[in-house]
Amino acid sequence: MRRWLKPLRVLLAVVFFGVLSAAFLDFRGLMPTRLAHAFAAMQLGPATLAAVAGSALAAGSVALLLIVTLLFGRVYCSVICPLGILQDAIARLRPRRRTATRFAPENKTIRYGFLTSALLAVALGATGVAFTLLDPYSHFGRITATLGRTALVIGNNTLVPAAQTLGWQALYRVPPPAPPLGLVLFATIAAVTVAALALWRGRIYCNTVCPVGTILGLLSRVSAFRLTIDPAACTKCADCLRACKAQCIDLRAGRVDASRCVACANCLSACRHGGIAYRFAWRRTQRAPDPQRRALVAGALAVPPLAALQAVAAAPRRAPVAPPGAHSATRLLDRCTGCQLCVTACPTQVLQPAVFDYGWLGFAKPHLDFERAFCNFDCHRCGDVCPTGAILPLALADKRLTSVGTAQFERSRCIVETDGTDCAACSEHCPTKAVNTVPFRDNLRLPAVNESLCIGCGACEFACPVRPQRAITVTARATHTRAAQAVEARPQLPKPTGDFPF
Ligand code: SF4
Ligand code: SF4
Repeated sequence: MRRWLKPLRVLLAVVFFGVLSAAFLDFRGLMPTRLAHAFAAMQLGPATLAAVAGSALAAGSVALLLIVTLLFGRVYCSVICPLGILQDAIARLRPRRRTATRFAPENKTIRYGFLTSALLAVALGATGVAFTLLDPYSHFGRITATLGRTALVIGNNTLVPAAQTLGWQALYRVPPPAPPLGLVLFATIAAVTVAALALWRGRIYCNTVCPVGTILGLLSRVSAFRLTIDPAACTKCADCLRACKAQCIDLRAGRVDASRCVACANCLSACRHGGIAYRFAWRRTQRAPDPQRRALVAGALAVPPLAALQAVAAAPRRAPVAPPGAHSATRLLDRCTGCQLCVTACPTQVLQPAVFDYGWLGFAKPHLDFERAFCNFDCHRCGDVCPTGAILPLALADKRLTSVGTAQFERSRCIVETDGTDCAACSEHCPTKAVNTVPFRDNLRLPAVNESLCIGCGACEFACPVRPQRAITVTARATHTRAAQAVEARPQLPKPTGDFPF
């Protein structure tokens, strides 16, 4: 068993890491939404949020992850969590001589301080902020989608001229993602912090900062199978310690700290004497943690700033439009972890991460940005990929009738009024015929909006040529509603008759 455990762990980790990375890096819409959703929905943070929202599948997923942890320890952290696997990859870049060879005691103050602050934040109603700041999968998503994907697109576009010279058509130019600066900074700080900690001491992030790691660590203390040292066989050569990414092997005491061991099996492969084994150890329950008062105080102190964030979530200038399936901005902010999977999956790129558009609480959450594009009438990918249920899946027929906002026409800015010229770009692009034209003067026609048909897709706003402020703009609905007759009203192309129409 000792020989195949590590290769099996590495193989599974490569599959999870590969699929999730591909989902976040995908800039050509090649990743099937079901596959991206299936792997993202196995992440503990998103699955917990979706389970709380009532998803039986997500509840099953959470239960399965907890049972696996109770049986085998923190395999989740070594196999399923992409941020954990990323840290392993980064830690491999350390020079061999800098690899730590000593046991590092657990820092309970920081570890349980982070967990306490996360739990208190959830208890105080700042769930979305807590998950955005602390969920490891969401950090991975933001780092990969914001930094990795942008770099990949720039690389792709740089190679296009050379590829075309060689007659290779597989590469073509794509518009660069241009994520907001605030998100780039946030993702960069997260990436640098995680990388620096991984280079310094392997999995120290997972074992001191990450609340998911701490919760799974608590369960792992009583897991059925654990790494245990056989005092009779162990020569104290420290080969296992050098291979351990969590610095959790206490050779002096002859024990492995199961709450910080991520069950990577590196020590098993490193030990030449059979001194360490992965075996059934149900009865050897490790002492329950004693979250010191200091940790609880540290956690409690961290919450007021979060509550303050909530307090300063002032009404933004123009309320951002939440994507179809979100139901309302309030619901979105409560359930979204800002992972960017929906932003990556959106084919028109109308879905963009907010900075402070929703206020502080909405940092990194998706909104429809009609300056860039409009919501495709035939698309419902964001709801299909979202793993937390922040954007619920909608059947295409339902999505086409979901009204996320209403178009508002400002006649004083319209060029038909100001320049006396023909236009009608908005009504031509409206997929539901909510924007029509009515007679004006001199055979000109002015747009008119039928709010009951409008779904707030932004096709009119995007098409409007007036700058800097467009003559037709979408105003967000506080709660999404169902529009009337949108599908039937969709503009139809004339049926081909075989004859020229002139
Ligand atoms: S439904 Fe609209 S916002 Fe969602 S992915 Fe499709 S085009 Fe983007
Ligand atoms: S709404 Fe988008 S960013 Fe938020 S959790 Fe869902 S997929 Fe991730």
